[in-house]
Amino acid sequence: DRVAVKTALLSVSDKSGIVELARALAQKSVRLLSTGGTHKTLSEAGLDVTDVSEITGFPEIMDGRVKTLHPKVHGGLLSIRDDAEHQAAMEAHGISGIDLAVINLYPFEEVRAKGEDYPTTVENIDIGGPAMIRAAAKNHAYVTVITDPADYAALTDELSATGETSFAFRRAMAAKAYARTAAYDTAISGWFAEVLDMPMPKNRTIGGTLSEELRYGENPHQKAGFYLTGEQRPGVATAKLLQGKQLSYNNINDTDAAFELVAEFQIGLPACAIIKHANPCGVATAESLVEAYRRALACDSTSAFGGILAFNSELDEATAEEAVKLFTEVIIAPAVSEAAKAVIARKPNLRLLVTGALPDPRTPGLTAKTVAGGLLVQTRDNGMVEDLDLKVVTKRAPSEQELADMKFAFKVAKHVKSNAVVYAKDGQTVGIGAGQMSRVDSARIAAIKAEDAAKALGLEKPMTIGSAVASEAFLPFADGLLSAIAAGATSVIQPGGSMRDAEVIAAADEAGVAMVFTGMRHFRH
Ligand code: 5GP
Repeated sequence: DRVAVKTALLSVSDKSGIVELARALAQKSVRLLSTGGTHKTLSEAGLDVTDVSEITGFPEIMDGRVKTLHPKVHGGLLSIRDDAEHQAAMEAHGISGIDLAVINLYPFEEVRAKGEDYPTTVENIDIGGPAMIRAAAKNHAYVTVITDPADYAALTDELSATGETSFAFRRAMAAKAYARTAAYDTAISGWFAEVLDMPMPKNRTIGGTLSEELRYGENPHQKAGFYLTGEQRPGVATAKLLQGKQLSYNNINDTDAAFELVAEFQIGLPACAIIKHANPCGVATAESLVEAYRRALACDSTSAFGGILAFNSELDEATAEEAVKLFTEVIIAPAVSEAAKAVIARKPNLRLLVTGALPDPRTPGLTAKTVAGGLLVQTRDNGMVEDLDLKVVTKRAPSEQELADMKFAFKVAKHVKSNAVVYAKDGQTVGIGAGQMSRVDSARIAAIKAEDAAKALGLEKPMTIGSAVASEAFLPFADGLLSAIAAGATSVIQPGGSMRDAEVIAAADEAGVAMVFTGMRHFRH
């Protein structure tokens, strides 16, 4: 199954490592062919290399749009070496075999990320490269295809003894080649979706490129990887890891939840969110970041142990000093001061991520989850309570403070697994009930957590007294409302729209509670 490499075609946009590889090939007496730019690089390095135009008898035309799209190239890549008819065709048309194709594509993804103009982006759609990669990969019984400079070393290793490649190697590289061309076309399709302002999958394909293999998945017996979609959104996928070990699968999931939540607080006050298992266990805003952190922690300091901290503004020294007192897995922030970095460095295992900016909660983008045999894709939940037409449905209208607390609670509830009930007061969550199968249980659990927090803080009464309560979906019965009122809530925010709205409103009126309907639901499963 070993095949000798006698002729190689090198055509690369990313020219890193290509001269060294070409030298190694030349030492093995491999004949080198290449396209214009690659030819120039190699011959300037003193290598003996033939331009493909000499093989095809046809010049590169149309600014390189057509350089290798020729039967002499594709016949050389695709011919079955031990098929008599194929051999006859090669002889009849003067085609010689190409045993190795080293190709990497026009940098479409980078050009897209840079936001270059339309014609530049289109010009960076490689045509001949993917055609050759796919041809060589199809013919992996005889041909070796290399699409990633990271594989040059493996190739020279493979060739070192006898100048041959094994079937196992050729097949592995072929599999990688198709993953590459598929991801390339997915990026192009994603760019069109963006240009056409058509985030939903009409005429587009969904996918990503493996950026790193993870140690394991949600559990140690599961394998996992992190794929990048190319969406230019500040967050866990694009952040820089300043210190700490590689993020785990669960870290990535929770860090995303934390940063997307804290990004709801775009302007105005510093904000902090603490996340455990993708649910917040405390969120707060305050005049200073350190105060926001303390108030977020006060909501449920027990659950915060081993959690993720997200901040909406530059992590400063004072906040870092407080944060390192708690055992946390990850800290993520748009920026980190030098002094704060030095403080965090005292905890070398703590992962510190810096994103450069906050993501915009209003941009659409896509989210996806898998079901057996399928991918469920939707636009991101980019509804913002500030943009909604809030309707007061009770006799009593909320005070300004109550209204601010309600909006805060509803923002947080959007990021809590359904059924979500969130109590908040003065820009601080004071009780969070998440993920219950009944809404009344979520309300009760939030109240119990508030009582525990009061005990931990040495308060006489839970902070839910006089709070606003948010429910991310409508209250189907009055019982959830009554349970929240029993916990001390004086104002309620919920989407409304239940068959029994009248019953729920009457119960609120009877208790003198102010209630507003948002008309928008934030299920999160
Ligand atoms: P070079 O720098 O050698 O002139 O060009 C290398 C690049 O051209 C590679 O990225 C390769 O994928 C691409 N390429 C090779 N043949 C063709 C072709 O016929 N058409 C287009 N559009 N690109 C090609």
